[in-house]
Amino acid sequence: MAKELHHFINGAKVSGASGRTLGVFNPNTGEVTAQTPLASADEVRAAIASSAAAFPGWAATNPQRRARVMFDFKRLLEDNMDELAEMLSSEHGKVIADSKGDIQRGLEVIEFACGIPHLQKGEFTEGAGPDIDMYSMRQPLGVCAGITPFNFPAMIPMWMFGVAIACGNTFVCKPSEKDPSVPLRLAELFMEAGAPAGVLNVVNGDKEAVDTLLTDPQVEAISFVGSSAIAEYIYATGAAHGKRVQAMGGAKNHAIIMPDADLDRVVDDLIGAGYGSAGERCMALSVAVPVGKETGDRLIEKLIPRVESLKVGLSTDADADYGPMVTAEQRDKVAGWIDRGVEQGADLLVDGRGFELQGYEGGFFIGGSLFDNVTPDMDIWKEEIFGPVLSVVRAETFEEAAKLPSEHQYGNGVAIFTRDGDAARSFASNVNVGMVGINVPIPVPLAYHSFGGWKRSAFGDTNQHGTEGVKFYTKVKTVTSRWPTGVKEGSSFVIPTMK
Ligand code: NAD
Repeated sequence: MAKELHHFINGAKVSGASGRTLGVFNPNTGEVTAQTPLASADEVRAAIASSAAAFPGWAATNPQRRARVMFDFKRLLEDNMDELAEMLSSEHGKVIADSKGDIQRGLEVIEFACGIPHLQKGEFTEGAGPDIDMYSMRQPLGVCAGITPFNFPAMIPMWMFGVAIACGNTFVCKPSEKDPSVPLRLAELFMEAGAPAGVLNVVNGDKEAVDTLLTDPQVEAISFVGSSAIAEYIYATGAAHGKRVQAMGGAKNHAIIMPDADLDRVVDDLIGAGYGSAGERCMALSVAVPVGKETGDRLIEKLIPRVESLKVGLSTDADADYGPMVTAEQRDKVAGWIDRGVEQGADLLVDGRGFELQGYEGGFFIGGSLFDNVTPDMDIWKEEIFGPVLSVVRAETFEEAAKLPSEHQYGNGVAIFTRDGDAARSFASNVNVGMVGINVPIPVPLAYHSFGGWKRSAFGDTNQHGTEGVKFYTKVKTVTSRWPTGVKEGSSFVIPTMK
């Protein structure tokens, strides 16, 4: 019997009241294990009202007390790591080690959030005019909302609410309907860490819930991570309703492999970054671009046996390289992209379609696939596949290779593998992509730096977490002050001043 999930509003579990639900699967077996309630606009408004009521008290709580909640929450995340990882794997399908990585990366944002008082201090100029002081402060915005994807159900909610709440905002999270249990549990743990009711609410739902968040006048800012078409819609709709919006979208991350690269290490990196977590990562390396025929031939020769021997297994199998995909629909979509690649003339060297795990035929598994001779006119180069498929696009020269990520519609991450410092430096400076790895396959910035792609990988202009995140979740007020002793006869301070 599938369990009924809930919302988490004003410090308590709240049953869904809309009568609409969506099944959550165990991707290992294909069974429906839970039903996610899909909130009506009224239920979302109740969550917004709870966060709005909590805002004045939380904003007035001094920053070090807010930080103490973050410290306690971090400890609770560590204490509950195993339980959270099992819960995450059972709905997402990624192996336990990847689930722990997902939680750990979110936890690191909470660690960063513990130090946010330092970034919120503002600036002060003594004597900006005669007996005049000028200072600025970073104030919280109010109720902020986050809409998150299925692929990092722990890390991405924490990217958002960790920074927003430490800055003094209150938050409504609308997680992916495909794997909502971890975000719900995070909200419980956050309360246990000492956050007052309403500071963090979680509502489950679909477009109706999202549209309510995008249009409700009490919501000041929207953070979104998901696919680009939805990101663009979120950005346009949220901005039209006067909100700050940061909306991260899809990706097509290239690895440029120079002739002098250490190919054994490159292959290790491509296997981890291309196929890990079944390729369901926005920073997955999905295109390899060897420079020169010889590099390409050697790369393919080394890749084929490694892709063929990938171990696809249960999300609970510690020896598996990756587990099932999140849903049958996602798995079938990936298989459809492989069909398309073959139709358009790419060479399918390893075919993962039709893979079944013995005893788990209902699970959403797919084997690893490898394409060679993919060209930029093919859809499998132009579009995001979001599955365990690596496309090799061959380039004659470094210039030709470097153009590919720069000219692609997406600009999330990119990597170059080389021993040539000049080539790497010039590539990092000039490539039209937001996050660059030099001999690093998945260049995800750490919590105290900022995460964000370019072009159709991100709409809006402020990145997630780090100082950019603090800027997104705060507004600057600047005060110019003079006390009566400073008001001397004949003194004035007029802006702009000519003196
Ligand atoms: P998705 O766009 O389907 O869903 C993301 C969120 O949007 C979910 O909460 C969903 O309920 C909501 N949503 C879906 N359709 C909607 C609609 N029509 N109107 C309003 N809201 C809607 O994305 P997904 O499949 O959950 O996640 C995978 C995608 O996310 C991939 O494209 C991946 O590249 C991207 N992603 C990007 C980053 C990044 O930082 N750039 C990080 C992780 C994932």
